[in-house]
Amino acid sequence: MKFFQNLFGTKKIIGINLNISKNAVMDMKDSTHTLQDKIESDLKKSPDIVDRRILMRYEKRFIDKFKKIGNLNQKCPYCSKAYQSLNLGEKKCGECKKTFFVQKRVQDMGTVAVMLEKKPQFDLQWKATSQIKKFKFFLPNEYSYIEKQLQGQGKKNLQSGDVMHSLLNAYAKNSLNAGHYELYMAFIFHKAELMRSQQRFAEALECYLYVYFLQSNLPDNEANFSQNLSINEELRQQIAQLLEFGNIQIKKLKDLFDYAIKHLNVFNESSLTISAHKSYSLLMKEFKEEDANKEEIKPMRSFVLYTKAS
Ligand SMILES: [Zn+2]
Repeated sequence: MKFFQNLFGTKKIIGINLNISKNAVMDMKDSTHTLQDKIESDLKKSPDIVDRRILMRYEKRFIDKFKKIGNLNQKCPYCSKAYQSLNLGEKKCGECKKTFFVQKRVQDMGTVAVMLEKKPQFDLQWKATSQIKKFKFFLPNEYSYIEKQLQGQGKKNLQSGDVMHSLLNAYAKNSLNAGHYELYMAFIFHKAELMRSQQRFAEALECYLYVYFLQSNLPDNEANFSQNLSINEELRQQIAQLLEFGNIQIKKLKDLFDYAIKHLNVFNESSLTISAHKSYSLLMKEFKEEDANKEEIKPMRSFVLYTKAS
């Protein structure tokens, strides 16, 4: 009995590594080229053509959810009576006696007065943009190298986001060409994080879904794939948060999932162990509970109408 427990039940599978460590990057840079043939056969020769309208539909949905909430003019959001105190927190209006709250909003850091019933969405807006992994300082040498390169190309008004995108793209590509597929996946994960910090939520979700697909194929840093049925906790959290923010069910996300794989996947299907289709069903299973919680309550059918007709 114990044997079976160990085999099937109790042993916790360790989630895949999505961190970028200095050592992993050094290893990648030092890698010898013994795996070139394998890598060559793993990578797609040409990218697929995609229809961006799918992505734009989701982008619009997120933009709607990210609308600024509250007023900046120190007035009760219900009856517009002015209030004096600048303290943050819950308040009760002296005029209409209703409760509202005063808080900083994430879009412009303005102090706003918000209706109590808007609080859940207000909190989700904060959540969706916070807890971004701070990767900027992981690779300071690489960062300044890329920055100089871009400056050398005559790029003006360089933002740190631009440098980060270039860095992540360049090092993702290098990792790929060195057969360091796991590290490649970590760079894509951080790309998703960067996009989320720039409030490009649909693109971030697209990247997270692609990372999910990759992790179900358990890539390593020697150009191998195997299978993985568990989800990395951090990845799970980020996907769950965006789904909650957009009020989206995984079971209705197939179009974006397929789009993500078509748009981002660089590997030949024949090299992978788990298909996009299988990976999506695993994801649906993983988020079954969250999906059910988002189920709309259908109005009761009127029995009266039917009995009368008969
Ligand atoms: Zn009021």
